[in-house]
Formats: sequence, C-alpha cells, structure tokens
Amino acid sequence: MKPVRVRIAPSPTGSLHLGTVRTALYNYLFAKKNKGKFILRIEDTDQQRNKDEYTKEILEGFKWLKIKFDEGPYFQSERFELYRKLAQKLLDEGKAYHCFSTQEELDELRKIQRAAKVPEKYDNRHRNLTEEQKKQFIVEGRKSVLRFKLPDNFDVKWIDEIRGHICVNTSDLGGDPVIMRSDGIPLYNFAVVIDDGDMKISHIIRGDDHLHNTAKQIPIFQALGFDVPTFGHVPLIFTHEREKLSKRKHGDIANIDKYQREGFLPEALENYLVHMSWTRPDKPEAEVFKLDEIIDLFDLGRISKSSAVYDLPKLYWFDNHYIKELPIEEVYSLSKHFLEKDLNLSLYSKEQLLKMMSSVQAGLNKLDEITGLIRFFFDDKFDLSSNENKSILNTENARKILEKTLTALTSFDFQNPQECKKAIDNLGKELGLKGKDLYWPLRVAISGSNKGPDLGLVISLLGEERLRARLNKAIAVFV
Ligand code: GLU
Repeated sequence: MKPVRVRIAPSPTGSLHLGTVRTALYNYLFAKKNKGKFILRIEDTDQQRNKDEYTKEILEGFKWLKIKFDEGPYFQSERFELYRKLAQKLLDEGKAYHCFSTQEELDELRKIQRAAKVPEKYDNRHRNLTEEQKKQFIVEGRKSVLRFKLPDNFDVKWIDEIRGHICVNTSDLGGDPVIMRSDGIPLYNFAVVIDDGDMKISHIIRGDDHLHNTAKQIPIFQALGFDVPTFGHVPLIFTHEREKLSKRKHGDIANIDKYQREGFLPEALENYLVHMSWTRPDKPEAEVFKLDEIIDLFDLGRISKSSAVYDLPKLYWFDNHYIKELPIEEVYSLSKHFLEKDLNLSLYSKEQLLKMMSSVQAGLNKLDEITGLIRFFFDDKFDLSSNENKSILNTENARKILEKTLTALTSFDFQNPQECKKAIDNLGKELGLKGKDLYWPLRVAISGSNKGPDLGLVISLLGEERLRARLNKAIAVFV
C-alpha cells in the first residue's frame, strides 16, 4: 500500500471555518491511524480575495486547537512556476487550449441557455480553433484563458470512502473548466490537482460540496500522469433549518476564532465536531472522548453520509463537561483575561478568587460566562428593581431577616462558610423563617439574584463591610 498522506487545504479568503476544522480532524485521525503524514497547505492563489489576516487566523486557529501537522504550511502562491510549467505541458500535448471568449459572449450564451431552460454551461466553442482564428483574436486584442479538455459525455466514477460508488457525467460539469486565467493565475481545480499529485497525497478527505470538483479533477490527474488519490467526501454542517452556515445569516458561528474568544475548550470543540458525524464502533453510545483515544478506532467508513446539524446546546454540553473536569488553577489561568477586562481582581486574594470560580465552575457552558456569574462579588450595581427582585424584597419577612442579619454581622465567622450559613439558619429560626423565605431576600440583597453559589460561601467571601453596605442599600430602597 502507498504511504498515507493527507492534507487540509484552506483558502485564506475567510476565517477558519468550523467545517474546515472538522474535516481537518478527520484527516488528522486518518493519518495517525495509518501512520501517515498530515499536511497543511494554504491555497492562496486568489489574490483579490486573500488576506494575510485570514492566513494568520487559520494558522493561529490550528495552533489553539493543538492540531499538529507533519508538513507545511505550504503556500500555493510560492508554486506558480510549477503550475505554469504544467499548464504549458497540457497545452503542448493538446489537452488544454486557449479560449478567447469574452465576458459578453459568455453572458449571451448563458442567456440563451436560460431561455431554452437547459443547464448553463460553456459550450467548448474554442476547443478546435485554427491557428488563423487564434491569430485573429489576438489581433483583436482579446485575452485568453486556458481551459482543460474534459472527455465528452464520459462517466467519471470512483468509490468514495464515505459515500460509496459515485458517478458524475462530464456533460454535467459546466463545460471545459478554466485552469489558468488570462493573467497566468491558476484556478483552484488545477492548482489543487498539481499539488495533490506533486505532494503525493494518497487520500483526499474534504467536504462534499467538492463532489463535482472531484469529477473535474480526476481527468486532470490522469492528463498530468499523476496517480489518482482515493477520495472521501465529508457531509457539510447545516443549521436546524437546513441552511449552510453562512456569515451573512448566522454571524460568526462558523468561525473558529469565535469559540476561541469566548473561552470554549479546544478539546470540547474537537470532541463535538468529530462526534457530529462519527461514532465509536466499540461504544457507539459514548459521546465524550479525546482524539488520541480514538485513533485506533477511527475509520472513514463510519462517517455518516447525511449532513451534520449545528447544535449549540449540544456543544455547550460538551464544553461544560470538559470545563467541569479542569483543575481550578487552570480555570483561573484560562479565564483570568476575561475577568481582568471587567473586574478589579485585586479586591480579593488569589485563594478567594479560586473559591469563587469553583463555586460557579460546574454551571459554565464556556469560560467567558464566568465574569457574569461572579460579577456581584466585585460590585453592587446589580438591579434590585426587577419585578422578581422587588417581589422578593417587598415583604415584611424580608425586611425582618435583612435587618436581623445586619445587626448580627459582627458575630459572623467570615473565615468559615459553613458557620456563616449556620448563623443565617439560626437567625431564620428566631424569626420562624426557612427555605426561600429566608434565603431569597438575603441572596437578592447581597447579590442581585435569588440563585447563585452556596450562600455561606458568598457571605464569607464578601465579608462584613460589603455585606453591611448591601444590606443597608436593600433596606433603604425597598423595605
Ligand atoms: N481551498 C479549497 C477550499 O478551501 C480546498 C478544497 C480541497 O480540499 O480540495 O475549499
């Protein structure tokens, strides 16, 4: 068997896409399973749409995800010479030809096809121009592109590792494809074949939006004398409404850097993406797994053919699972930059901060939520006037417990959360209050919400001074 060599080949015409990462993960797993090589190639031939910042984002995204490559990044923009050489070869061998059609002519052709309700495609009109005709076009000042001669009405067939037998007739491919623009820039379908051939890629695993491209590329591989790789087309990710994830409609949900910015854990995102279309053969019900533990189990044949569905609650579920497993020191170091932006961390010791964080850790869907959950420890600008809070505070019992707590504060043992809780329970007993009648008014007064971390812990961390100020404020405003 040929050595396994796979690649991921993003174009820097946009941010690193969720679908690209998922495809990269399948490539990575396939390479590792087969002791092969995984290659990164940046397909930056489209000089109008490329941006350096996207290249940077793509490289940084993979780094954040800790996806390692055995080779690359290779850049197509550094390989133009090879593309031009092979274009000339095809031209010399009569496998490619100059097409001088103008945009107006092509538009006209399309109009006629549309009116006749036949599929729109280039009609290969310049395949067999005479030398005379070519000269004439050049004299007219026309520019030419290079087109590849597809075999006519030919069934391109392959056995896809994911989708099984595939057959696409060349008459459905839109006519002879352009391989080089008039300015000598190669088009995707040409450069990709040359690179996959030249880099000895054994398996091309990519999104199934490329099925028709594969049917164009196989004859190009053959024309250039390269071995045709094995293909596997991965289903795309759609929304619940069966729409492709698009920037315009769905904002940045398809961009990896959104997940990085918001404090998702890369392991969780990867687990989620792999699991979207692949299940373990040994334990199909097991959803949580690390990449390295499934390498030996990985098999392209187990990737589902049906499209994947983006499901944020499910992603939260994975992320929450991984966050819960993090040592608290790591939660601290990974979330510190979120917290520092908004909160004055110097108000508390590191030990206190760790306690705050572990009190909310289990409820986090992503790390940036932590700021909102512990904000009340840092400032008391929370809203006491919401209807819910008002209805909790505006009772006779609420006033009693707030006032009683205020007078008892000096006797609290703030070093000990359990003792603080006990002290509250004792005050409650004296007033004949327990459960939410006792806790909710206190919680609202000191944190702005009737839910939150353990009340004893909250009291012990806030300390006497802050508690006094907050209780006074709540009493003054409402009771
Ligand atoms: N640059 C292409 C893309 O981003 C690569 C497709 C392929 O894997 O061949 O869609």
